[in-house]
Amino acid sequence: MTLEKIHREVVIIGSGPAGLTAAIYTARANLRPLLVDANDAEHQLIPGGQLMITTEVENYPGFSKGIQGPELMEEFRAQALRFGTEILEAMIERIDLSERPFKLYTREGYLIEAETLIIASGASAKWLGIPGEAKVPAGLGGNGVSACATCDGPLPAFRNKRLVVVGGGDTAIEEATFLTRYAAHVFLVHRRDKLRASKIMQDKAFANEKLEFIWNTEVKEILGTMEDGVTGVRLYKNKTQEEIIFPCEGVFIAIGHKPNTELFKGQLEMDEVGYLKTAGHSMATNVAGVFAAGDVQDNFYRQAITAAGSGCMAAIDAERFLDSLPVPMPSGEEVTMEGEVITPDHKKIILPDGEVISNKAEEVSAGD
Ligand code: NDP
Repeated sequence: MTLEKIHREVVIIGSGPAGLTAAIYTARANLRPLLVDANDAEHQLIPGGQLMITTEVENYPGFSKGIQGPELMEEFRAQALRFGTEILEAMIERIDLSERPFKLYTREGYLIEAETLIIASGASAKWLGIPGEAKVPAGLGGNGVSACATCDGPLPAFRNKRLVVVGGGDTAIEEATFLTRYAAHVFLVHRRDKLRASKIMQDKAFANEKLEFIWNTEVKEILGTMEDGVTGVRLYKNKTQEEIIFPCEGVFIAIGHKPNTELFKGQLEMDEVGYLKTAGHSMATNVAGVFAAGDVQDNFYRQAITAAGSGCMAAIDAERFLDSLPVPMPSGEEVTMEGEVITPDHKKIILPDGEVISNKAEEVSAGD
């Protein structure tokens, strides 16, 4: 296939709060950013990111009455477009970060060349990895098993039914609480006897009569058939080592998220879970010109506002990086902002006072 080439100073991957904030800042800096986002429901990669599957957001500053997640993301997107961000819906399949411009190859046949890259690819829901959980036809995923209550909860398949939610964090509580609007009864199954969720959300959940907690319990299998969907779960009570079959008609897995960093394995430094490592007081990764923002590099705060903040930082970092690059002259020499001249063969640098030194960067890359 012939590749359609696109070349940009700034390419952003991801359209959650981090990616779109980076777009707003770089677009306002006249850097004509290209933002690439994927619409791939199977891998839970949704334009707009995780806020698209959230209901009310009460803690995003500036919205005193709260705002729905999707509405907030529409505002972000409109603001990024207003300043000239170009958005390309495409699935990136391969990336080459070995030299600049970086190269991004998409499933749709684009070769995107990026002088700087801001990675804001976020995180996706985690699964338990138990029998019955896989997508239809291998399991009951999509046929009574889901990882997104706000997407699937209102569907007829879950209305007035007995539902199980797995997890003990804010996501699990939020999903379980949301499901009580539609379900006959919701059972939250948690592996410990304490929730990780914030106090305010716990208090609301404990006061909800349609929500019941099953403590110290693990879901070991999801039971059912293609025809009937989910009929129950096999539960393991880890304090008493007892196993029971618990009848239910739907299961929602809400046990947290994992960063979307598969593409960057072997090219960017990550921690043991896969979160990209950034350098202390900046959003720089270990590759010069590549920055990361939002949940893809943050396993600690993971809030929309912190993601947006880090998107802004990555944008400013990218802008400064571009500003500091040497400018090519017609003679073949390159001149830096500091007035240094790099010789056409890239082997020497002539300092503003006339001193000639060897180009260390060139020596390192030549030796690699
Ligand atoms: P968390 O990591 O906070 O919680 C995950 C939960 O799932 C934990 O209770 C954990 O159990 C449980 N869990 C993890 N793996 C397994 C497993 N294999 N089997 C059984 N249980 C498992 O993730 P969340 O997605 O809930 O929250 C992530 C972040 O997003 C947090 O910072 C949260 O505050 C924020 N958030 C905020 C919301 C809001 O303010 N409206 C809404 C949703 C999320 P254990 O406790 O035993 O480790």
